[in-house]
Amino acid sequence: MTITLEIGTCMNTKNYTSYFLGYFIVFGIVITLLSSSISYKIHMVDIESTIKKYAQEVSLSRQSYILKPQINQMDDLVMALADDQILRDFIHNKDPIKKRELQNLFLTISNSNKSIMQTRLIDETGQEVIRVNRDNIQSLPYIVPESALQDKSGRDYFQIVSQMTTSEIWHSKLDLNIEQGKIEVPYRPTIRIAVPLFYKGVFSGMVICNLLSNELLQSVENSPLFNLYIIDKDGHYILHPDNRFSWNRYTGVKHDLYEDFPEDASSILAGESSGKAFFAYPLDSILVNDDDAILLLKPKETLVNSLKAGNLIATVIVTVLSLLISIPLAFYASRSPIKLQRALQNSNTELQRFSDIIDRYVITATTKTSGIITSISTAFATISGFSKEELIGQKMNMIRHPDTPKELFKELWNTILQGKQWHGEIQNQTKQETSYWLEQTIIPINDEQGVPTSFMSVGIDNSAKKELETLALVDKLTNLYNRRKVDECLYLEIEKSKRYQKALSIIMIDIDHFKHINDTYGHQLGDTVLQKVANIISNHTRKSDCCGRFGGEEFVVMCPETTKEGAFTLAEQIRQAVETYPFERINSLTISLGISSFERDDNIITLIKKCDDALYIAKSQGRNQSVVI
Ligand code: GH3
Ligand code: MG
Ligand code: MG
Repeated sequence: MTITLEIGTCMNTKNYTSYFLGYFIVFGIVITLLSSSISYKIHMVDIESTIKKYAQEVSLSRQSYILKPQINQMDDLVMALADDQILRDFIHNKDPIKKRELQNLFLTISNSNKSIMQTRLIDETGQEVIRVNRDNIQSLPYIVPESALQDKSGRDYFQIVSQMTTSEIWHSKLDLNIEQGKIEVPYRPTIRIAVPLFYKGVFSGMVICNLLSNELLQSVENSPLFNLYIIDKDGHYILHPDNRFSWNRYTGVKHDLYEDFPEDASSILAGESSGKAFFAYPLDSILVNDDDAILLLKPKETLVNSLKAGNLIATVIVTVLSLLISIPLAFYASRSPIKLQRALQNSNTELQRFSDIIDRYVITATTKTSGIITSISTAFATISGFSKEELIGQKMNMIRHPDTPKELFKELWNTILQGKQWHGEIQNQTKQETSYWLEQTIIPINDEQGVPTSFMSVGIDNSAKKELETLALVDKLTNLYNRRKVDECLYLEIEKSKRYQKALSIIMIDIDHFKHINDTYGHQLGDTVLQKVANIISNHTRKSDCCGRFGGEEFVVMCPETTKEGAFTLAEQIRQAVETYPFERINSLTISLGISSFERDDNIITLIKKCDDALYIAKSQGRNQSVVI
């Protein structure tokens, strides 16, 4: 029973509750973790854009609200000075009274902003004409005496500004103040703002302001979220969060942009920003000088960490909440599959019980179309006397009884190979060579085209019925057919002879003086003699001959397709065999035989009568002989 056995192995008593529950919980956890990690990643992108937004805000505040207004204010101041009528008049006529007024004006301008360290008028030759100095941010400005005025014709700012053709503002690079050819200590970062002066279209000097850019830079420097740098176009620091590295171009400290940002230095100098590590903003539109300075913002670790920590906390909270929701959901969701599984398990158990019963009590087998056995039930193994292992892989005809007529097999195979079901009785042989009968139904398992791919047989043991049938037809003592069967055979054979006009001969046998044997040696020996004679008769006849005990010590042999002559020869052989057989205790035993053949108008009675007559003649002629009528 292949099918039932497979079902059997599928079924076990495993409790699926924990399985399904575990499955759903794991499913819930996986989904939660997946969505949490996605949400974490999305928030990380958010962090990037938040940092970028902050960077833009900081940069905007530094550029638009600090640098630009201050520079613009100074530009306006210097421009206003250059446009002043007193200055214009003085350039025109170099009047000493005007000069004094102008000195006072320069003093006023210097006073207006603490960052203005110098305000000067330089003539077209490069000679300082007016100079107002402030020594430090706390002190007041003062007019430098004429004797201390210097020739600035060699300085770069004079050379640049004197070459300008229009009255535009010029900004120097941001650098450190140099006094008497040396960098002033403490450092005084300075930016010079100048404007050329023209009289009748000819360069006639310049106004120049030295602006202390300390405060300007310190205001840029200060941000709680970012480290701020200002870099010149060569990557030197004008401003560095660590003051030691600011102005490294001038101080000779070997620490520039390439030290801090070895991989990103060139993109920073190109004014490019990375997504999150740094943000560069060119300052040339504000400073308008040769520095081509860049404001660089690098997010502080604390900013990134606090944003990340916020994200992490949010993700953890979402994960925990999701898990708290997903576990009860898992309980709920696993309820119905658990129920279904239980129902399935119960029906499987029931099915298993049925299949066990079928396996134990129903004789089934499956074979290939070649007749090779592929499986058998336990009931089949039991009745056949073979184990399953002994039968599986063998041909089915291994267990067929040798007496089974070949015609039966022919008919069986013809039927099932056509894909049709066969039903009939088959005699099989056990391992111990005893016989048993099965009432079998053989069902072809067909493919879609109706061609059999295998056969399945279901059988019922009908050996007992067969035995009863046999007992009803066989004489118990001699094992030959009884009178009832003899009459049946006679009737059938006569019918056949009539229909097919074939010869049929009958031999009637009677033991000579049998009464005497009974009387002399007793009935028991008489029975033994009857058995021996019956044996001799069946040994001399063919399978197709029907031998039976006609009654008492009389026997009949029906010989289909046999002439009188043939029957006589057979009769003589039997007679001689009995005559020569060494019976126990009996010296000699003979038989008389009457032979006759079926003729056209004969029936059972007339045929038997002819045999009887022949037998009578044999008896009356001295017994131990065969007589043909
Ligand atoms: P004959 O040569 O003329 O045939 O003499 P016979 O003695 O054989 O003939 P008879 O018909 O007088 O005797 C037949 C005997 O067979 C009578 C009966 O007791 C005996 N007999 C019949 N059936 C059985 C049987 O089943 N067992 C035994 N032991 N004897 C039987
Ligand atoms: Mg008799
Ligand atoms: Mg007799």
